[in-house]
Amino acid sequence: MTQDEDYMRRAVALAEAGGRTEGASPIGCVIVLDGEVIGEAHNEVDILHDPTAHAEMVAMRRAGKRLGTSEFRGATLYSTLQPCGMCSMASIWGKIGRIVYGAGRDDVHHMYFEGAQLDTIDFVVDAFRDDISLEGGILKRECTALLHKPDEAVPVEEQGNL
Ligand SMILES: [Zn+2]
Repeated sequence: MTQDEDYMRRAVALAEAGGRTEGASPIGCVIVLDGEVIGEAHNEVDILHDPTAHAEMVAMRRAGKRLGTSEFRGATLYSTLQPCGMCSMASIWGKIGRIVYGAGRDDVHHMYFEGAQLDTIDFVVDAFRDDISLEGGILKRECTALLHKPDEAVPVEEQGNL
């Protein structure tokens, strides 16, 4: 098992905890710097009543608080789901070095993503920084299993983001 898989497994456990928590969603994120977890979270949007409380944002806030900085140069951000535009941009502002995700945009129901958003792969590639990398598909099966499938008939009232 690779180190990436180890950290992603930790993100999957957080996502599972989020899935069992009222007001949270089953998406997990772990940020690692020099072999140390500096921030981790599951989605807390409806716990904090904060539309920006995606797992990645909450994990970055915790990492910033812990390290007393807003820059995470050399850090790797692991997310069970491909980060959205907001979280990709925040990663760029936060000087994250590497983004690793499990399930990709096409692996899950479209309700998880902004309808008109650029694919975040292009988003990161087109960003003004060229020192951030993006890799997907780590523990893809486990990460995809956390969420609704692309062709699943999710009742409209249960669909977020629409
Ligand atoms: Zn996000």
